[in-house]
Formats: sequence, structure tokens, C-alpha cells
Amino acid sequence: MFGLMQDYPLTIDRILEHARHVHSRQRVMTLLPDGSLHTTTYGEMYPRIKRLAKALVKLGVEPGDRVATFAWNTYQHFELYYAIPGAGAVCHTLNLRLFPDQLAYIVNHADDKIVFIDGTLIPLYERFADQTPNVQHYVLMNAPKGVETKLPNVLYYEDLIAGSDDDFEWRSTDERMAAGMCYTSGTTGDPKGALYSHRSTVLHAMAANQMSVLGIGERDVILPVVPMFHVMAWGIPYAAPMAGAALAMPGPHLKPEPLANLIESQRVTIAAGVPTIWNALYQEVKAHARDISCVRSLVVGGSAMPRSLTAAYESELGVNVLHAWGMTEMSPIGTVNILRAEQESLDQEARWDIKASQGIPVFGVEVRIVDEEGRELPWDGQSMGELQVRGPWIIKQYFKRDVAPESFTADGWFRTGDVVTLDPDGLMTIKDRTKDLVKSGGEWISTVELESAIMGHPDVLEAAVIAVPDARWSERPLAAVVARPGSNLTEQAIMEYLSTRVAKFWLPDRVLFVTEIPKTSVGKFDKKTLRRRYAEGELS
Ligand code: AMP
Repeated sequence: MFGLMQDYPLTIDRILEHARHVHSRQRVMTLLPDGSLHTTTYGEMYPRIKRLAKALVKLGVEPGDRVATFAWNTYQHFELYYAIPGAGAVCHTLNLRLFPDQLAYIVNHADDKIVFIDGTLIPLYERFADQTPNVQHYVLMNAPKGVETKLPNVLYYEDLIAGSDDDFEWRSTDERMAAGMCYTSGTTGDPKGALYSHRSTVLHAMAANQMSVLGIGERDVILPVVPMFHVMAWGIPYAAPMAGAALAMPGPHLKPEPLANLIESQRVTIAAGVPTIWNALYQEVKAHARDISCVRSLVVGGSAMPRSLTAAYESELGVNVLHAWGMTEMSPIGTVNILRAEQESLDQEARWDIKASQGIPVFGVEVRIVDEEGRELPWDGQSMGELQVRGPWIIKQYFKRDVAPESFTADGWFRTGDVVTLDPDGLMTIKDRTKDLVKSGGEWISTVELESAIMGHPDVLEAAVIAVPDARWSERPLAAVVARPGSNLTEQAIMEYLSTRVAKFWLPDRVLFVTEIPKTSVGKFDKKTLRRRYAEGELS
């Protein structure tokens, strides 16, 4: 016997309908390219989104078509997050930090029909526009009419809205319809597309809003520094209007100074981004005595938050750090590090030890760890294995069937490629990517932990560890370190510092001082490039 409850489709338009009725006056602020602040509300955006969706249909967009965005975090991008799926199409966000050839590959692989482009990004797109001949229209946002461009078939965002009307029925009729798409930032092989559905997006937003996840409420002002092209800004543009929270969008202004200004002036309560951004912001706040204590939750993920940075934020700036883990393939939220009641009374050092871990699985994400033979490992805090996941906002297949089928197990789990431990209470600690681990004399060395230990040294700005071939041990760790300007940091000082913090066989064989750690398009340490530079003798 089935239950007798309504089959209510979980579609993205429901979030918007809710926000316009219940939170219509809630604000969405955007730092425009000229530095001025634009303010609108969910209520004001609603008819614009309907007009835009109708305009897309008039342009010939059919259900399931891919419509791309090449844009910063702005209110227009927010409008597109609703208008495109509302028109029955797929909102495909393009990562503007990728190389032109990769971007051309992605636009063609996705077969994008229309691309919405921010004015400041036109020159970037022009570099590969001749490689994407199937795009039918380019729609310019934040660009003056008649702007000079080599792009063909140009339209203007505000013209589309002005030339349409809001008498439009949402075309998102089935919750299983595709709604959004992001390609992985891909440090190996070609980028792969994760295709989100309406249902997965809505369920993910509901999960994100829980107290034990991001805990977003109507009193919050959320600053997504994480770009809207990186896993849909971690789902925040869907979670915020669902909870009635305000949004503060940084536009193209991702430097620490404008970010600190935005936080101070808009009294931001939740800010989300990768550790690199928070490292830079910390330097700014310390150097110029800024007050960002209005932030009650600094959400950080994408790569491991160094323990020392968490300690600095919490003890010096009065900002609580919320360490989370996720993946493009998981919409992205997987685990969140919320301290349990009994941990609240621990001393600070013990709390920061816990916060260095990636947290516990949120409801909706099932996890297991397996060894190299695929045998399940115990949750004992010791056994290290590959993490596999399943749940309603985790992919079952990449876009187009032939892409990386080896990422999925025969019994339907997704292989994350992360090597982790799980403790008996489900606290997950990332040790490495399977491809980054160092195997020395048959023992694993976690590059993530070693990096975190090195970054604890007060004169270290950044550190990345890679495995290098070794005749005796097969692999040994090598550390690339960026020293704080003006310090006299030496290899010996780092070794002494590490000697009381990690096992002896973990001590890097060499420490190389570099001016910068290469980063991927989403701000993670690019170890593939580091390894190549080392192999080619560029690092020595
Ligand atoms: P992406 O799909 O670009 O978001 O990358 C996902 C990968 O980033 C994961 O598989 C992890 O390897 C890494 N990652 C994400 N969050 C964290 C975190 N909090 N700590 C360590 N690694 C992380």
C-alpha cells in the first residue's frame, strides 16, 4: 500500500514562488564592476525572471537545451539560475578561470545553445569564440549597448527582459528534469559534466539549510565568495531564498579589501569560500585592523582548511569556522564539521584538532570506505580507504554515457577518489586524493596533513607536498613552501618545527622555497603542475 500524500514536484521554481510570497522584501546586493552597490529584492526579481524565461522560449530554447553562463556572482546570474531551469532548460555555468581550449571543449561537449556573458568577460570569451560555432546567441550583461565585440549574434540582457512579459507558466513540470550543469575542474583528463536535476537541487538546498549543516535563516546575510560557476556556488543561491536570507554578491571583486568592505558594510553573517580566499582575507584583516566579527560562520571547503588558519580566525578575529567537504559530483555538500554538544566544553586546542577534520555526513549522504580490493573498512578512525558515497544529490553518471564509467561501482556508489578515515561517530578526515598520496617504504603519508602541519609554522604562507620518486623508498615527500615576505625561514627551521609534530618518516626529504604555489581554476593547490615542474627540473 502506498501512502496517501501528494506527489508534489520538487522543482526550482517552487523556491522562487516561496521567496516572492514570503520573503519578497529580502535583499540581494551586488558589487558592480564600477564598485557601486546594486540592491534588489526577491520580489523585484520575480517578474524579471519570468520575463527572462519567456524570452528564452521565444529565442527557441527547448526543454533540455543547455544555456550557459560566463559570469561573476551577480543578481543577473541569480536571475539566470531560476529563469533557465524555469524555461525547462539547463543552466550550465562555465568556469571562467579555465584555459580557452578547455572552455571551448566544454561548450562544445555540452552543446550550449546560448551563452550569457558579463561585460568584463567579453575579451576572455573572444579568445575561443571561433571554436564554439554552434552557439546561436551571446547575451551581454553589465555591458553598454553597442559595445565593440567580435562575438556574433549579440543580444543585451535588459533588452531581453524589456521585450518580454511575465505572463508565463514555468516549464519545469517534472522534478527529474535536468536543471543545472557544472563541469569538474579536472586536474586529470578532460573536464566531466555533473548534471543536476530539479529534485536534487531542491533537496540539496533543504539539506543545506538545516541547523546541523549551514544553518541558514531569515536573519542571515550570506556572502558566497565561492563562484557561481563552482558547483552552483555550493547551492547557496537556492538555499538562501528558500530560507529567506539576504545575499551579498561580490561580482568581480574577489580581492581581500573589497571583500572586507562588503562584509563590514552589509554585516555579513555567513561567508563561504575556499581556504586560499580566507587566507588572503585574514592577512588583510590583520594588516588593517578590520572588524569582521559580524560573521558568525565562515564556511570553508574545496580543500582542507589548515588547522592554524581556523585557530587564527577563531582566537584572533572572533569568527567561527565551519569546515565542510564536498564535490562537484555531489552538488556539493557531503560532510560538515559541526561540533557536538559534548565537544563544546573542550579546550580550544582540542576543538581545533576536531575542526581540522572534514566533519560528519549530512543526512542524505551515505558513506563507506573501501580498500584497494573493494573490501569495506571499519569506522575506527584508523583504517584509510577510498571514500564512496550515494544519495539523492550525488551523480549516478556523468553527462554523456561514455564519460568515466569507472567512477561508479557495480552496486551504485560513486567513487570520490578521496582517501579518508571515519571514526566510530562518523567524523570523516581526508588524508589525500588517491592520486596525491605518498607511498614511502610501503607506508602511506598524507600530503594534506603534512601541508597543514607545515602551514602551522608562523613564517609559512602556503605549503604544498608532492610525492617524488625515490630509489630506496619508492616515493618520498617534497614540500614546496611560500615563506612570509621579510622572514628568514630556512629548511632547517621547518624540519625542526615538524619534528615534534609528525612521524619521523613523514619529514619531507626536501623543502623548496617558491614564490607561489600553482593553483587550479577553483583555487586549489595544483599538484599536477608542481609534479610536472619538478620532473622537468624547474623546481630545484
Ligand atoms: P570539486 O569538485 O572541485 O569541488 O573538488 C572536490 C574535491 O575537493 C574533493 O574530492 C576533495 O578532494 C577536495 N575537497 C573538497 N573539500 C575539501 C575539504 N574540506 N578538505 C579537503 N579536501 C577537500
